[in-house]
Amino acid sequence: MADSDEAATRPEPRSPDSGLVRVIRQHVAEIDQRIERAARAAGRNPAAVQIVAVSKTFGLEHIRAAALAGLTDLGENRVQEALQKIEQTAELKIRWHLVGHLQSNKARKAAGLFAWIHSVDSVDLLRRLELAAMEQQATPNLLVQADLADEATKYGAAVDEVRRIFEVAHTCRAVRLRGLMLLPPWRDDPEEMRLYFRQLVALRDALRSEGVDAAKLSHLSMGMSHDFEVAVEEGATMVRIGTAIFGQRVLSH
Ligand SMILES: *Cc1c(COP(=O)(O)O)cnc(C)c1O
Repeated sequence: MADSDEAATRPEPRSPDSGLVRVIRQHVAEIDQRIERAARAAGRNPAAVQIVAVSKTFGLEHIRAAALAGLTDLGENRVQEALQKIEQTAELKIRWHLVGHLQSNKARKAAGLFAWIHSVDSVDLLRRLELAAMEQQATPNLLVQADLADEATKYGAAVDEVRRIFEVAHTCRAVRLRGLMLLPPWRDDPEEMRLYFRQLVALRDALRSEGVDAAKLSHLSMGMSHDFEVAVEEGATMVRIGTAIFGQRVLSH
């Protein structure tokens, strides 16, 4: 009798971070729904859109919670910050993406660390990654970050350099070129991003018609928290989402 009373009042077992897991799972469910709607409206398959959860500035608790919430692909924008997180969460089997600018002196480290590098912006960087990947027997997937903005954006390859990168990629044995990435200048109105996304699609199509292997152009990484639906409508296969999953960043980068 006493036993069953005790059982009735015993609290549910809870892990300390289960609240965070629940919040993240809820955010991802909402994002999934919005991706689904945007994809269907454009006649696309929602399953062709991968969420890359950008965890920059957030700590291990958030990364573990993201994995428990079912996220498989996480993104960081700095090699040094990512290194520590990747080492300390190795048991989670996360696919890590580098979404931020890659300095050439960090190429060696990045080649063995990330499954995807979204920010290849020069032939020189491609060559460094290929060498490092060969040495480390790694096979990272690479995207070429294109700079299409009228106003000069900070990083990204101009269209001529994008072409050269795809030419040189023919000689690469370790790295795998998979498509294009875009980080357009900020606009408050997501509708104003549509033009940029269309330009990236047009560049992809032009490269295809110039004979670049379709397998090297199968991905478009475009769209962030405030504009991912427009990006999905225009053909994104990867959306890089931070704030809408993890909340506002306290540190700024
Ligand atoms: C931070 C970052 C994102 C995510 O931005 P949110 O607005 O928080 O979704 C996406 N891409 C890159 C390159 C970033 O640095």
